[in-house]
Amino acid sequence: MSGAVFSAVRPDSVPSRWATGCPVRFNHLPPRFLSLVILLDSKAQQTELEWISYPPNGWEEISGLDENYTPIRTYQVCQVMEPNQNNWLRTNWIEKGDAQRIFVELKFTLRDCNSLPGVVGTCKETFNLYYQETDSEVGRNLRESQYVKIDTIAADESFTQGDLGERKMKLNTEVRIIGPLSRRGFYLAFQDVGACIALVSVKVYYKKCWSIIENLATFPDTVTGSEFSSLVEVEGMCVSDAEEEADNSPKMHCSAEGEWLVPIGKCICKAGFHQKGDACEPCGRGFYKSSSQDLQCSRCPAHSFNDHEGSWRCDCEDGYYRALSDPPSVACTRPPSAPQNLVYNINQTTVSLEWSPPADTGGRNDVTYRIICRRCSWEPEECVPCGGNVGYSPQQSGLVDTYVTVVDLLAHANYTFEVEAVNGVSDLSRTQRLFAAVSIATGQAAPSQVSEVIKEKVQQRSIQLSWQEPQQPNGVITEYEIKYYEKDQKDRIYSTVKSRSTSATVSNLKPSTAYVFQIRAFTAAGYGTYGPRLEITTKEEATAAIVSSEQNPVIIIAVVAVAGTIILVFMVFGFIIGRRHCGYSKADQEGDEELYFQFKFPGTKTYIDPETYEDPNRAVHQFAKELDASCIKIERVIGAGEFGEVCSGRLKLPGKRDVSVAIKTLKVGYTEKQRRDFLCEASIMGQFDHPNVVHLEGVVTRGKPVMIVIEYMENGSLDAFLRKHDGQFTVIQLVGMLRGIAAGMRYLSDMGYVHRDLAARNILVNSNLVCKVSDFGLSRVIDDDPEAVYTTTGGKIPVRWTATEAIQYRKFTSASDVWSYGIVMWEVMSYGERPYWDMSNQDVIKAIEEGYRLPAPMDCPPGLHQLMLDCWQKDRAERPKFDQIVGILDKMIRNPNTLKTPVGTCTRPISPLLDQSTPDFTAFRSVGEWLEAIKMERYRDNFTAAGYSSLESVARMSIEDVMSLGITLVGHQKKIMSSIQTMRAQMLHLHGTGVQV
Ligand code: AMP
Repeated sequence: MSGAVFSAVRPDSVPSRWATGCPVRFNHLPPRFLSLVILLDSKAQQTELEWISYPPNGWEEISGLDENYTPIRTYQVCQVMEPNQNNWLRTNWIEKGDAQRIFVELKFTLRDCNSLPGVVGTCKETFNLYYQETDSEVGRNLRESQYVKIDTIAADESFTQGDLGERKMKLNTEVRIIGPLSRRGFYLAFQDVGACIALVSVKVYYKKCWSIIENLATFPDTVTGSEFSSLVEVEGMCVSDAEEEADNSPKMHCSAEGEWLVPIGKCICKAGFHQKGDACEPCGRGFYKSSSQDLQCSRCPAHSFNDHEGSWRCDCEDGYYRALSDPPSVACTRPPSAPQNLVYNINQTTVSLEWSPPADTGGRNDVTYRIICRRCSWEPEECVPCGGNVGYSPQQSGLVDTYVTVVDLLAHANYTFEVEAVNGVSDLSRTQRLFAAVSIATGQAAPSQVSEVIKEKVQQRSIQLSWQEPQQPNGVITEYEIKYYEKDQKDRIYSTVKSRSTSATVSNLKPSTAYVFQIRAFTAAGYGTYGPRLEITTKEEATAAIVSSEQNPVIIIAVVAVAGTIILVFMVFGFIIGRRHCGYSKADQEGDEELYFQFKFPGTKTYIDPETYEDPNRAVHQFAKELDASCIKIERVIGAGEFGEVCSGRLKLPGKRDVSVAIKTLKVGYTEKQRRDFLCEASIMGQFDHPNVVHLEGVVTRGKPVMIVIEYMENGSLDAFLRKHDGQFTVIQLVGMLRGIAAGMRYLSDMGYVHRDLAARNILVNSNLVCKVSDFGLSRVIDDDPEAVYTTTGGKIPVRWTATEAIQYRKFTSASDVWSYGIVMWEVMSYGERPYWDMSNQDVIKAIEEGYRLPAPMDCPPGLHQLMLDCWQKDRAERPKFDQIVGILDKMIRNPNTLKTPVGTCTRPISPLLDQSTPDFTAFRSVGEWLEAIKMERYRDNFTAAGYSSLESVARMSIEDVMSLGITLVGHQKKIMSSIQTMRAQMLHLHGTGVQV
């Protein structure tokens, strides 16, 4: 039976244009409608289906129309009359694609057997659904055994009863699921066993979650799982210019129904991009987004810009920077300006600096300060970094507060300190560093700690120690003090022992007792601080006899008394012996060690004239250490002495640091007298031990060349040094030099030594600007001095430096040295000017006799000039003593106000002779001539370039004008200004008119 088995059916919601096995995606549709991938849809095909039907009289392909009158293809069978029906219909091969779980939807109508008369026994109301999995098509043969049954399909409803009693066919829809499938494809088969069926449509599909973008992540098309309940986890891929949020990668789950469920994690737009819909768009120009975490692009912060899209940050404008730690959201900033109002305070070798914050912090609040310390020689350009020996409190850089204390500077050294304000961008800036700077000269200082102490020998009752000189002796160490006490003693009563060398033996100790030792060094500046404590235990007692004597206080007192007496006898004996020979006993030169046991050798040392020795060699060895020539390394020739070359070199004595030395050599072919005279200086110098007297290291007399080894004075003689650095020192520095010379002379005069040739040329200057008296000799000293001339009284005398009584009747005393000292003061304050200029010696003698004295040098504080005048008192008893001079200078240094000189105050003539210091400006014909006269010709070009071509124009200059010429040295500014003021006064006097300034 065929025909009329189906009527029009409602179309499925799946669009009819879907082709079998060809999935189409519609993003705009809700996922529910998008989840199907159709593999087969019989209705979609209008041409013949050409499925296999067997036997041929079973299933029959019939064309029809659906409810829209669209032609469709159906299969029908209705062999209800015949028994034992077995009619098979097989679909074409269906490629399964990605599917694992296949849905088969059947729409069919089925006739109720009751509605068919005469079919009882043969008519059925069900059919069977089968499938066969294959990897490819298997031909047109149908083998029942190869099919797997899916289900027996029965109609829910076959026919319904209409209102008028007619029966209506009802369309049944049944869905069955197959899977999981493992082959590439399959066939479906329908077995009819005697029913009347119209197979209106067969639709085969699987479900899929379609690609979507969720939270800026793309999730690809995903086939559902094989099980009904399974969820397929899918990783999302960030859309372009987006990135996964940290630890939160995007995931979704594809349900069996083809729906995306449970979104987890997300993507976010990268730096420089912001989200717009499901995409990331670049930030516009002038905007930035520094991090993916930020939601929005922001406008560039102050002093920054960008001129392209998609920026994660903005670039700084020229001169502005961003520190590494600065987030892109903060404004660009710049280094701070220089600190302001830098002031300093010097206390010996400690300098405190204080300043105010910079006017411009550069827009930041992380301003700190750093200190750059340089030690300078007296050449301004020759500065070297201070290095690690200098200490900074609280620290050298990263200073938050506006002060620092710099410690452990060298004594009498010149330093510059730069205080730089820095902020987080200072190191990025290539612009010039801005800093506040000061130049400072340190004062005298005590030696640094003695820290390297070695125990040489430990015995029952004595301990021998040796040590290294302190790192910074800051002068000549004249003595070491060893302090010790019993460690376990409650009251800590300590004893001291002194030594001149770097070793000492401490005796009278108890056996088996722990002692604590500390050592400090002494120079003219006083004691240094004690070095670290060193604990040493004496050896155990060896014999019972000693033990018992130790325990008996009477014996102890007796032993100490006897020992003390012996020491005293030795000392007194040594003193008398010494006096018999030379009136002075120096410590044993070989051991070079003296133990004082807390009482000092009484009295001051006295100078002994080496000429009193019959054997001059004895004198040398009495006062000078014989050095091994192998300890001396000669490096270069630095000058010519009367007896031979003067060289510089190094001396390395065992147990001591190697030191720079000057080596005076005796030229070959010398006579015995020359040798004696040459070594005489060493015999004299060797008796002295003072920081302001050149120190003799020793002599080499037992080899050739014969040498005198002296401490090295880097800056040579004072007169040449001052001329070279004309105008470059502060008054305090000059007075500091004078104080040193006076201290050296006080020491010499206390020893009873009269120098006779004290002059700036005979003062040596070391690298720390310490001045030391040198050039010792007897008759030869003055013979040797080119300044010395024969006087009417016979003998050679350096007239300009010599007191009247010494010139007139050779009365050389410490008071005549004081006169010379006054001349040295004048030389120092005038930067090495020749005393009495080019007056003849005769004129000088005459002028002095008539009561004339040198005027104050330019810019000389009146107090200092007064001191000079005091030194030049005719009556030598009226002249100050050297210790008074030291006292006066110390007072001036402590109270620098007394050294202030109103510009030009010292230039007023005091007496006709004093007029010499004030050139007659009206006599100069040009600015050049004037500059030459005041020794400032080096600035000739500066004046010319600035248009100061006439003296009149110069006379109108102010200090600012002078500074604007680029004259930076304060000493020079003052000198020029002082001269201008005098010039102005002279012009006023001459023309009776003022010069408008
Ligand atoms: P004198 O024979 O002492 O006049 O020395 C000659 C020159 O050698 C001096 O003018 C100095 O320039 C130099 N001189 C002498 N002694 C020293 C020293 N201790 N250190 C450095 N230079 C020296």
